Amino acid sequence: MKDAEFILDADVVLLKDRTVSVIGYGNQGQSQARVLRDNGINVIVGNIKDASWDRAAKDGFPVYAIDEAAKRSDVALVLIPDEIAPDVYYGEIEPEIRKKKHFVLDFASGYNITYGSIKPPPNTDLVMVAPRMIGFAILDLHEKKKGYPVLLGVAQDVSGKAWEYAKAIAKGIGALGLPGGVAIESSFEEETLLDLLSEHSWGPIMSAAMRAYFDVVTEEYGASPEAAILELYASGELSEVARAMAERGMVEQMADHSRTSQYGQFTRTERFYDTVKEMVRKEAADIWSGEFAREWSLDQSCGSIVLNRMWKIARESRLAKIEDRLYKTLGRR
Ligand code: NDP
Repeated sequence: MKDAEFILDADVVLLKDRTVSVIGYGNQGQSQARVLRDNGINVIVGNIKDASWDRAAKDGFPVYAIDEAAKRSDVALVLIPDEIAPDVYYGEIEPEIRKKKHFVLDFASGYNITYGSIKPPPNTDLVMVAPRMIGFAILDLHEKKKGYPVLLGVAQDVSGKAWEYAKAIAKGIGALGLPGGVAIESSFEEETLLDLLSEHSWGPIMSAAMRAYFDVVTEEYGASPEAAILELYASGELSEVARAMAERGMVEQMADHSRTSQYGQFTRTERFYDTVKEMVRKEAADIWSGEFAREWSLDQSCGSIVLNRMWKIARESRLAKIEDRLYKTLGRR
């Protein structure tokens, strides 16, 4: 295990005399484009002709078709959904990159590079600046003059300056040089593992525990389903605990809970740990080997049969129906 290298600040000078295209004006795209522009960078947007195009134009950006934006830029931030990026990249971005002497290509996630679905040409610095922050929160933090964490990676360094480009982009999108801002030197593979393993471990384990809790207390102990949902997540207590974890750490936030709760949580975490670690280990291996990527890619090539079926089952579940009634009563729907 190596200690992380923390980077707290960087210089945007490498981007100053360049045109930076932001490809995709969605969650990340609109936030990153707006913060880059506020930081003095010449930004253009590449998008399909739809509502996101109109929003980018309304926000005052020159907007072009994706191939035209790639053609007009020296640096491109590819901020489109990961499952769509390979088609868009090979169809519209790479032909333009190949005509250039040098190009810098940035991704906000490691997925497509890790699994080889995108392989940029040898004239390209290939960097990753992966925010640990959702899009609208990036804008909110920018307005509050705060930074946020990012993971950096370099998979191809033809100019010898790829790490400097990654740091310059991190600074340009508002992550560094501000309270709360930190970049960690990482890699496309590490980012992919960390990101997917969150989604495949504590997320579904927590969802499974909540569903099991709901079924046990309502079916076997006659508890009110609405009271169960309020206890689990609808009261908002869970989000307060998550906020306390983010602000003070997982260990120290435990002091906020009653002593009975502390005792129950500490001892049961120990009781579950070995079983859960085995589950996490299996998921990590599936991500690292590419097995999960193969499974997901297969489902997409079959019209997302499994994903659509899972949505249908979830929406028709007893939990969803009771949740709907409760949320309407609470005025949230
Ligand atoms: P979004 O789902 O918000 O979509 C981004 C853009 O892609 C939109 O402008 C969208 O247009 C456009 N788009 C959709 N389909 C197509 C298509 N077929 N051809 C061309 N453009 C298309 O993506 P995110 O911002 O969530 O994700 C972008 C990247 O950032 C991904 O790599 C993701 O992993 C990464 N990331 C995302 C985070 C987040 O907060 N969501 C956090 C950290 C990293 P339209 O709106 O019209 O559909």
